[in-house]
Amino acid sequence: MSVATEVSLDGKTAVDTGLGWVNRYAALGPAFHTALPPQPLPAPYWVGQSRAVGRALGLPEDWTHSQDLLQAFSGNRPLAGSQSVATVYSGHQFGVWAGQLGDGRALLLGETESGLELQLKGAGRTPYSRMGDGRAVLRSSIREFLCSEAMHGLGIPTTRALCVTGSDAPIRREEIETAAVVTRVAPSFIRFGHFEHFAANDQPEELRRLADFVIDHYYPACRGTDKFAGNAYAALLEAVSERTAALLAQWQAVGFCHGVMNTDNMSILGLTLDYGPFQFLDGYNPAHICNHSDTQGRYAYGRQPNIAYWNLFCLGQALLPLIGEQELALAALESYKTVFPAELEQRLRAKLGLQASRPEDRALVEGILKLLAQERVDHTIFWRRLSHYAGDAQAAPVRDLFLDRTALDDWLKQYDARLALEDGARAAATMLGTNPKFILRNHLGELVIRQAREKDFSGVARLLALLENPYAEHPGHEAEAGFPPEWATSIEISCSS
Ligand code: AMP
Ligand code: MG
Repeated sequence: MSVATEVSLDGKTAVDTGLGWVNRYAALGPAFHTALPPQPLPAPYWVGQSRAVGRALGLPEDWTHSQDLLQAFSGNRPLAGSQSVATVYSGHQFGVWAGQLGDGRALLLGETESGLELQLKGAGRTPYSRMGDGRAVLRSSIREFLCSEAMHGLGIPTTRALCVTGSDAPIRREEIETAAVVTRVAPSFIRFGHFEHFAANDQPEELRRLADFVIDHYYPACRGTDKFAGNAYAALLEAVSERTAALLAQWQAVGFCHGVMNTDNMSILGLTLDYGPFQFLDGYNPAHICNHSDTQGRYAYGRQPNIAYWNLFCLGQALLPLIGEQELALAALESYKTVFPAELEQRLRAKLGLQASRPEDRALVEGILKLLAQERVDHTIFWRRLSHYAGDAQAAPVRDLFLDRTALDDWLKQYDARLALEDGARAAATMLGTNPKFILRNHLGELVIRQAREKDFSGVARLLALLENPYAEHPGHEAEAGFPPEWATSIEISCSS
């Protein structure tokens, strides 16, 4: 099967992908969105493509060479059967109610037969653009594309990215940059903020329709549950709390900082959503702030789990008119407080290669995190080296990371004793499949962005290949698995994108 074309009703030549579109979100009605076409971008070119996402969607293998799809994903031609809409939502930003926001630069194209929705991010102004230009720049689009696929490679729930297309159209940020569009893919892009919107605007019918839509399509088990006196909306809040808790445990374990955990950036499906000023930790530091605009450190790495709970509380408030009783809403939120620590503990035990749970494990975990924080030891490199240590007991590569060798040796002694109770080979295998060798460090992204600005996109593809399989050794790519260079600390990532 290959990509064919046909003529659409509005006279523009539509691209027919044979994806079998259904437009369920659009069918919710005009209170939920504004229908509008993407705005064209001149002379687009491919910047990055994910074959894996193409396969998940059921695109023909030759899509990567299709001029028609290049035009379609740049907003220049419609996709036959899609129905593009900008959705409306509101939200709390940096702890303060921000009122109406909405898709200011993203357009939902609809859902395909694969059960996945497609969205064009950076496709032009919408009624929700406020002061923005509706565009996304090349740099942030490459970062979102690579990090979406990196997170997926790590096994962390996330929206995906099919491709990035670029154009030389100038875009004004702190300086003049160029435009790009990310084609994002997810079962749903619904955010906590969608619910907050209808609750704040006193639109109970729309609130109920949205909640029923989410339950029917994504959380059917919430109906007919015995819990919460059969209250499906309380069950939904609990299910979202549990997924969010599991997500946060994964972020913390891998050292991912989101950077802008506003309620409008929280996925109702517990996916990592809206990649902006994110960063993977270099040196381990719970107080690390990755977003240059976050002067108070609200979204510091170590605060993320509490912020997620705060955001869930906002969701609970929004759902309260449906849930009815405050006690039920509070009971539903409780699950976060048990699921998050349990999930995190399990992830940290896996990082140490420990299968069984033993009383001394907590002290072991706390001991090493304290040492890592004291010396700001590189998080990813430490855990990867420890994985090899568990395999062959060569302590030197791990010891080299610490100045306080005595403290480390004391800890290693405890760890050795604990490891002796495990199957050694199995422990090492668990660790090598848990502690990645490759993460999307800021400087790695920065290097391929610099190349891409010179129209060399080979670096994007090479880095994608590493990040898609971050637990593999990838011989010959030690540089990408190494320490960040000095200049990496001077990279400033802000909300500007
Ligand atoms: P974010 O901080 O990226 O989550 O965005 C917050 C809000 O600002 C959302 O409503 C976005 O759609 C909107 N927004 C961000 N950048 C732009 C832009 N360049 N043009 C229009 N809207 C934008
Ligand atoms: Mg956002």
